[in-house]
Amino acid sequence: MLTERILTAFPSTSSDSLPQICDALFRQQQSSWPQLIDGYASLKEVRVREVMCEGYSVFVQFNPQRIVSSGAKVDPKSINERKCFLCVENLPADEKGVLYRDEFLILCNPWPILDRHLTIAHTKHVPQGIEGFVSAFLDLAQAMSPDFSVFYNGPKCGASAPDHRHFQAAPLGLLPIERDAAHPTRRELRFTDAGTVLLSLKNVGRQVIVIEGTGAADVESLFSRLLSSMRQVLRLEEEPKVNLLCVHQNETYRVIVFPRRKHRPDSFFRTDDKQILISPAATDVGGILVTPREKDFDRLDANTIQGIFDEVMLDEDTVEQIIETL
Ligand SMILES: [Zn+2]
Repeated sequence: MLTERILTAFPSTSSDSLPQICDALFRQQQSSWPQLIDGYASLKEVRVREVMCEGYSVFVQFNPQRIVSSGAKVDPKSINERKCFLCVENLPADEKGVLYRDEFLILCNPWPILDRHLTIAHTKHVPQGIEGFVSAFLDLAQAMSPDFSVFYNGPKCGASAPDHRHFQAAPLGLLPIERDAAHPTRRELRFTDAGTVLLSLKNVGRQVIVIEGTGAADVESLFSRLLSSMRQVLRLEEEPKVNLLCVHQNETYRVIVFPRRKHRPDSFFRTDDKQILISPAATDVGGILVTPREKDFDRLDANTIQGIFDEVMLDEDTVEQIIETL
C-alpha cells in the first residue's frame, strides 16, 4: 500500500522546503532501514581519484556495491522475470519515501554513488521515458533547488529499471559537468529562441548540449524540439537515447543533455581480461565514472575513459547535424 510508505507528502501545509523534507527522510531512513545503513557504510569505503584527460578532468570511483546496477541485466526477458524493485509493493519493509505531487515517491537509494543519493520513482509501474514528463522533471529540479540536481537515464542508456519511470537526485556541485557547464570558456552559444538558449560545451571530451531558460514551458518546448531533431537525424521512432541533468539556480533552468549512441561499451561484454565493468549512466557521463571492480578502477586512464566516451556518446558530426536541424 502506498499510504504505508509515505513519511511526508510534498507540498503540504508545512513551510519546509523539499530539500529539508528529503534531509528528514535521510535521517529517518539512516536510523531505521538496515540496507541503507549498510549502503552508507560502504559509501564511506569507496575510493576516488581524479583523472586528467585532454582539456577536462573526471573522477573514477571504485564502489563494489554498485555491481547491482553496473551489472544489471536490462534486456526485456530479464526485466520480465524479475520483481520490479521500484514498485511500491516490492519495497523492503523499512523503506519509506516522500510523496511528491501525488505522482512520484522520493526514496533513498540504498546503493549510493554520492551522499544523499535519491531515487524518485513513479507511483505506478509505467515504462521509463521522458516524453510527457519533461515538465515534471523541470518542476522537480526547481523544487529540489538549491541543494540538489536531478538526473534522468533513458530506458536504453543507463536506467537500471527501464520498465519503471524514475528520476534520481544528488547534491548539486559534485559532478564535474555541472562546473564545466557553468564555465564561460567552455560554453558556446548556438541558438536562442523565446527566452531560451542552446549551447554546446567545448573541450569536455564528449558532445554535451545545454538548454537554459527562466520559463519552464519555453525550456520544455526547446528540449522537445531537440528530441525531434535527434529523432529525425538518427531516423528513430523510439525515444532518442539521452541522459539528462537539470539544475535550477538564479531562477534559471539548466538542462544538460548527453546524446548517446549506445548503452554499454564493447569492453563491458568481453569475457577475457580486457573486460571493463563500466555501464555509463548520467553520473558517469557527468564525470564520475563508477566501477564495482578494483582492477578496473586501477587501470582506468585518460585514454580508456576517452575511448568509452567516444563509443557511447554521439559523435561531433551527428550532433552538429542535430543542432542544424533544430
Ligand atoms: Zn515497477
